[in-house]
Amino acid sequence: MLAESHFYFHKAADVLGLPDKVRTILLTPHRSVKVGIAIEGEDGELQSYEGYRVQHNHARGPMKGGLRYHPAMDEDHAAALANLMTWKTAVVDVPFGGAKGGINCDPHTLSERDLFQITVRFVEQMKEVIGPMTDIPAPDVNTNATVMGWIMNEYSKYAGFSPGIVTGKPLDLFGSEGREAATGRGVMDVLAEALAEQGKNFGDVTVAVQGFGNVGSNAARLIAERGAKIVAVADHTGGVCAQTGLDIPALVAWVAENGGVKGFPAGEAFDSSEIITWDADVLVPAALEDAIHKDNAADVKARIIVEGANGPTTPEASQILNDGGVLIVPDILANAGGVTASYFEWAQNIQQFRWDEERVNQELDKKMSRAYRSVREVANEHGIDMRTAAFVLAIRRVGKAALARIHVKTKLPF
Ligand code: NAD
Repeated sequence: MLAESHFYFHKAADVLGLPDKVRTILLTPHRSVKVGIAIEGEDGELQSYEGYRVQHNHARGPMKGGLRYHPAMDEDHAAALANLMTWKTAVVDVPFGGAKGGINCDPHTLSERDLFQITVRFVEQMKEVIGPMTDIPAPDVNTNATVMGWIMNEYSKYAGFSPGIVTGKPLDLFGSEGREAATGRGVMDVLAEALAEQGKNFGDVTVAVQGFGNVGSNAARLIAERGAKIVAVADHTGGVCAQTGLDIPALVAWVAENGGVKGFPAGEAFDSSEIITWDADVLVPAALEDAIHKDNAADVKARIIVEGANGPTTPEASQILNDGGVLIVPDILANAGGVTASYFEWAQNIQQFRWDEERVNQELDKKMSRAYRSVREVANEHGIDMRTAAFVLAIRRVGKAALARIHVKTKLPF
C-alpha cells in the first residue's frame, strides 16, 4: 500500500520537477511510535497487543487520521495510511497534517469491557504524542464514536477537559452534526461537479455502488435524493439491482435489520462480483482496496468512477481506465468529506461553539466543490489525470509549508 501511494507521489513530483531532496523531506515520517498493550481479559487470561501511531507530516497543522483496530494492523499499514492523510488534508485545504494508527486486535472476538481496557492502555501510552494541537485521532475500521468517547475521557484525565483530542465523537459528547454522513455527502458533492463539467445532471445518470456501509449507503441516499437512479448495490452479502432505480431508504432499513443487502425484496439478486462492471454511467466503489484491478478494469462500463473507498483502484487499473477516457475522481479528493467534517468538529470543540447541521453541510459542500475545481484546474494546467493532479496540488501545498518552516538552500520549482 505504501508502494502505491509513493508511486502516485513520485508521478506527481515528476510533473512538478521536484528535487530529490524535497521528495525525501516530504516522504519521511515525522514520528513513528509503537507501544505494547497488555491487559487481563474478562476471562482472566492475559491479552497482549501492539499499538501504533505514525505521524507523517505536520507542516500544515496538527496531524489527523483514523485509529484502526484490526489483526492485520502494523507499522507499514499505519505509515501508508498516514502518508495518504497528509495529501488528503492538503487537497481539501484543511489545516491539518497526516497521521494514522491502530491496534492489532480483533474487536469481533473481544468483549466491550476488554476493548475499553485496551483503548485506555493505548491512550495512557500515547498521551505524550497525541493532543488537540499535535495529533487528533478519529474512527477508522472497527472503531466508532463510542471508542472516541473513551479516548476523550481518558486523555482528559491527564490534560484536562479536551474534546478536541479526537473527532467522530458521540453527538452528546461534543461530536458534530453532519459528521456521520459527511464522507458520503462529499462523494455526492464531487459527483455533482463531475457531472456539471460534462453538461449533465443527476437525473441523467444511473449509478452502481459497491459497499453499503457508512460511505456507500450515505452516498447512495444523497445521490438518489438528487434524482439519479441507483440501479445496483453490492455488499459482502450479495448484490441487488433494479433498472428503474432502487428505493434507497427502504434498502437502508433492510440492511439495518438484516445485516446486508441480500434478500432485499424490492430488487433482483446478482453476484456481488459483477458490481464493478455493471452497466451504469457512474460507479462508486465504497468498500474494499483494489476492487478495480488489471483483470476487470477494461470491462468497466461506467464513464465516471468516484472513489468512496481508500485505494479501490490499482495503479494498473487506473492507467487502463485513464487510457479509455474514464473520469476517476480519486480517493484523496472523493472521500475527503469525512476529514473535512472532522475539521469542523475540531473547530467547534476549540471554540466551544456548536454549529447546526445545515451549516456543517453547507460548509462541507463548499469545501468539496472548491477542492474538485482546484484539482480540475491543475489537471487542465498540466494535461494530467485527476489523481495525479490531486497529488500535484497536495505536494505544492505541503511542500511550500514544509520549506517555509526550515532553512534549506533548495528552492521549490513552483
Ligand atoms: P463500513 O464498514 O461501514 O462498510 C463497508 C462496506 O463494504 C459494507 O457494506 C460491506 O458489506 C462492504 N463489503 C465488504 N466486503 C465486500 C465485498 N467483498 N464486496 C462488496 N462489498 C463488500 O466501511 P465505511 O466506513 O463505509 O468505509 C468504506 C471505505 O471507505 C473504506 O475503504 C474506508 O477506508 C473508506 N473511507 C471511509 C470513511 C468514513 O468516513 N467512513 C472516510 C474515508 C474513507
